[in-house]
Amino acid sequence: MAQDLFSIFLNRSIAAPDAPFLILPDGGAITYAQAVARSGQMANLFRASGVKPGDRIAVQVEKSADALLTYLASLRIGAVYLPLNTAYTAAEVRFFLSDATPALFIHRPEDEAAMAALCADLGIAARLTLGTPGEGSLPVGADAQSAQADIHPVTMDDLAAILYTSGTTGRSKGAMLTQGNLASNSATLKDYWRFSEGDVLLHALPIFHTHGLFVATNITITAGSAIILLPKFDVRELIRLMPRATVLMGVPTFYSRLLGEADFTRELVAHMRLFVSGSAPLSAETHKEFSARTGHAILERYGMTETNMNTSNPYEGDRVPGSVGFPLPGVELRIAHPETGESLPQGEVGVIEVRGPNVFKGYWQLPEKTAEELRENGFFITGDLGVIDDRGYVSIVGRAKDLIICGGFNVYPAEVEALIDAIPGIAESAVIGIPHRDMGEGVVAVVQARDAALDEAAVLGAIAGDLARFKQPRRVIFLPELPRNTMGKIQKKALRETYADLFAK
Ligand code: AMP
Repeated sequence: MAQDLFSIFLNRSIAAPDAPFLILPDGGAITYAQAVARSGQMANLFRASGVKPGDRIAVQVEKSADALLTYLASLRIGAVYLPLNTAYTAAEVRFFLSDATPALFIHRPEDEAAMAALCADLGIAARLTLGTPGEGSLPVGADAQSAQADIHPVTMDDLAAILYTSGTTGRSKGAMLTQGNLASNSATLKDYWRFSEGDVLLHALPIFHTHGLFVATNITITAGSAIILLPKFDVRELIRLMPRATVLMGVPTFYSRLLGEADFTRELVAHMRLFVSGSAPLSAETHKEFSARTGHAILERYGMTETNMNTSNPYEGDRVPGSVGFPLPGVELRIAHPETGESLPQGEVGVIEVRGPNVFKGYWQLPEKTAEELRENGFFITGDLGVIDDRGYVSIVGRAKDLIICGGFNVYPAEVEALIDAIPGIAESAVIGIPHRDMGEGVVAVVQARDAALDEAAVLGAIAGDLARFKQPRRVIFLPELPRNTMGKIQKKALRETYADLFAK
């Protein structure tokens, strides 16, 4: 019987209480025993706030040791952890809270006024605040609690977390991840990437997303290794701390930024054993340039919120630029015809479908959406287009849903378009992703205006308050008419080709 993550964490703390779990950039450290004790204090505070097993705990806070430990405290009491992107505006947070109806919302102290009003309006009974470092009612309240707290027994089928993915139609969907989804994927990845107690992971990813929260944290706990916890991505900090680390997990932007630093050299990475990339396509050029500079082949893997990780390049053997490698052990992957759903022969491009213990339980309170994307036989229709070569390597060739990935974050055009279309004087808009060396893709809005007085600044100004910064277009292009096919659909492919070089200079 597989163990749940909190039990694994607890056992690590018993076996090696003084081993470091979190290493802070200023040199301080939190051991496994201290982290378990802190999770106990938080568990008591959450229970005293009224949280029961199965209740959701929504969290929108800046990255810190205490912020990460709220995840472990949530696991400890059998609650369902619901992290929110720190860039979301109050209007966006309103949707998530009203959809997920959490028993507790943890937010930044500076958002007190807006979130107090929102929670009163939505009937969310309990709130706590958490700032950096140690500021807010959560750390103060936790300090006053005992570190002894019962561990709620869970089954592998129980929900551990809900992570929202933006919907292509503008409706965000909460992906329900079970204890078994998380535990099975971290056990697989720990072995596949050879994690051990001696590893030190340099952690500069956000902790509200599957990559930084689950892949990074869960593998560390499972292997009993340590995390150097950076509050955010800062290329100079990465370079300063790299000699103390053995592994880096990043989005492609991390790697292109590192290559832009003259002192990022083979000598600097002498202590490193592994560089992992994911969440967006890593360009073959970056992969090759990185190998030439450091002697390390970046290991690219492919996953998503709904499935955890699905494929990975091998630890030993060829890590092929432009490929996401092989299906992980225990994960079945097939390429299906987009319309009929039939399996396609090797070498043909189709929709990637996956099945395994990593695949989520469905979308929160959306049984119809779940049925559309999760087949009865257990295969999840990822919406990514891919192909398998004659050696079994999987490559992603496009995204069926026109998803834009900017710096590792998903931007769904429909959501941005809806806001732009609502601006008086705009006839229509098409939001597309254009290749951007640094961010992977840059968001561009192509608009047809009725009012000749509208300009780029007016469009950007009109939507800024309603949209997280990473979703806001970098450029707005005005056209007299948007190109359409015979069915009346806007031809985004043609637009992408026309503006392909927009960010080249
Ligand atoms: P998210 O749910 O935010 O993790 O986004 C998942 C999506 O990111 C996938 O469906 C893919 O479209 C994309 N993705 C993740 N990893 C890769 C990768 N290594 N190469 C290309 N696309 C990727």
